[in-house]
Order: sequence, then structure tokens, then C-alpha cells
Amino acid sequence: MTALTAGVDVGGTSVRASVVDPRGRVLDTERVPTPGTSSALNAAIAGCVGALAERYPVEAVGLAVAGFVSEDRRVVRFAPHLAWRGAPVADQIAERLGLPVVLEHDANAAGAAEQRFGAAVGARAAALVAIGTGIGGALVLDGEVYRGAHGVAPELGHLRLVPRGRACPCGKRGCWERYCSGTALASTALELLDQDPAAGGPLAERVRQDRGSLTGVVVAEAAERGDPVALRAAADLGWWLGEGLALVADVYDPEVVVISGGVSGSAPLFLDAAREHYAEVVTGAGHRPLADIRLAHYGPEAGVVGAAALAREHVTAAERVHR
Ligand SMILES: [Zn+2]
Repeated sequence: MTALTAGVDVGGTSVRASVVDPRGRVLDTERVPTPGTSSALNAAIAGCVGALAERYPVEAVGLAVAGFVSEDRRVVRFAPHLAWRGAPVADQIAERLGLPVVLEHDANAAGAAEQRFGAAVGARAAALVAIGTGIGGALVLDGEVYRGAHGVAPELGHLRLVPRGRACPCGKRGCWERYCSGTALASTALELLDQDPAAGGPLAERVRQDRGSLTGVVVAEAAERGDPVALRAAADLGWWLGEGLALVADVYDPEVVVISGGVSGSAPLFLDAAREHYAEVVTGAGHRPLADIRLAHYGPEAGVVGAAALAREHVTAAERVHR
């Protein structure tokens, strides 16, 4: 019998639980909307995993959480879009299900999925940059998810690239994700139009009629249709992606950088610009090997696959200790 584990991606809008095999393949999935209270959230997770466990021999559970997880991976300290605050989630869910449970930050889980089974298989130093509303980052070093001393590393999206730059919800200014995200696509397009009020194209027309309607998705779609302002915004995102990756390379010298997240669907619009700029500005440019910047293998299932893999590894490690 192959050991099956469950991965649960606990996001702000939905809870997705999947049974995953040891090769990172999703066998079955249960999904419910994310409840607003912590007890209902715990019950929803247990319900999804319980339903899967009736159909498959699930041995352990990994939860991928969009929030801060304690360094021992038992407690969710804070999750901006979830009800948990200092909640001992791993123990609570383990008690309900009678199965071992581990927690992981969702970007870390995605990084583990890519390094175990996806675009960064075998890379000794792999970085994941998930570009969505903001940037989620993960580092997998010598096969281990790097969490730092207090479990909060790496906050790649909040590296300050521009002193006194665009304001960030984190309280700082000039964070990388303010220039390289879906949100940034919209901000940049608006800035470009403010600088050039006579600019033409459907996007400019739309903004003149309803400035508030501009989102990253709108800009990305306009760029795919060749809108000149949207294309400039996408190129700008690529430049900033390269700029930030050069900083990441200065600290971690990754062998592979995996680009994922919703915005990566528009990668043809900006990935070459990012690679080019990265190669120009990385320290020692021209005299060092460059990171291979690749698109992610996994889409929205990255979190469940990574969490399930980490749960499997947790159980295997515990068995080793007990022998
Ligand atoms: Zn920030």
C-alpha cells in the first residue's frame, strides 16, 4: 500500500483538501467555502479530510495556511484573511481526525511541491516567487524549506526596493510586491496614464470613464490584446521582477527560481524582460552562473501537493526517531 497523505489549502475564500500520492499526484479533492469563525473553520477542514479519509487510507495531514505559522509548525499566529489568531490548529485538527497534522505557510508548501515534484526538482537552492495580489515567497535550501529562526522567512514581497516608494498594506513603502504583482500592474498603468493623459488605446479609454475599474486582470488581458499602455505596465513588472530577483540572488544564489501565482499566467508578457534585467543587474553579472528562472509546474494545487508531501515527510521522520 502506498502511503497517501492529505494536503489542505486553507485560503481566504475556500478550503481545498486533496489526497496526494507519494509522487505528488492529486487523487481526489474536497472543497468548501472558508467559514468565518475559527471553530467552523476547524470543522470544515476536519469535514473535508474526514470525507477523503473514508475513501482513501490517509496517514497524515498537512495544512497550507495563508498566514504566519509558529516555528514548531503547530500554531497559526496570525492570518489576515482567516479567523485564527494564536490558534493551536495542528493539535486541534489532529485531535478531531486522529491523524498527525503539520502546518506550513502556503508559499512554503508551494515551494516544497515545486522542489519535490515540479519545476525545481533536485535544485539545491530553489526560490519560489508567487506573483498574485502580492508576492508570496519560499526558499528550499538543500531540500529543506527555509523558515528562519521564528518561522516567518522569507518575506520576499516586502523587500524594500524603492525608498519612499508606493505605500504597502504592511506599513512600509516601496515593497517589491507594490511593483511586481497584479495590484502593481494596475498601479503602474494608472501612473503611466497620469504621466501621459493623451495616451491612446482601450485601457486609457476605460480609465478615463471609470478609473476605479482597473485591476491587474484587466491590465493583463488588455496587454494580451496588444493595448500599448497595458504592454508598458507588463514590461515594467518584468523589469521589477528582474530587479527583485537580483536581490534574492545576492542573498541565496538560487539555482532555480520558480515563478508561480495568478500573474504567472501572463508570463509571456514579462518573463523575458525579467530574465534580461536580472542578468544585467545581478552582482557579478557576466562572471557568474545565473539562476534558471522557470515557470511553475503546479497551478492552484501547489499548496495541497506541498502540504501533503511535508505531512508525509513529517511522519517518516517521526517513525525514524521511534525506531
Ligand atoms: Zn510591504
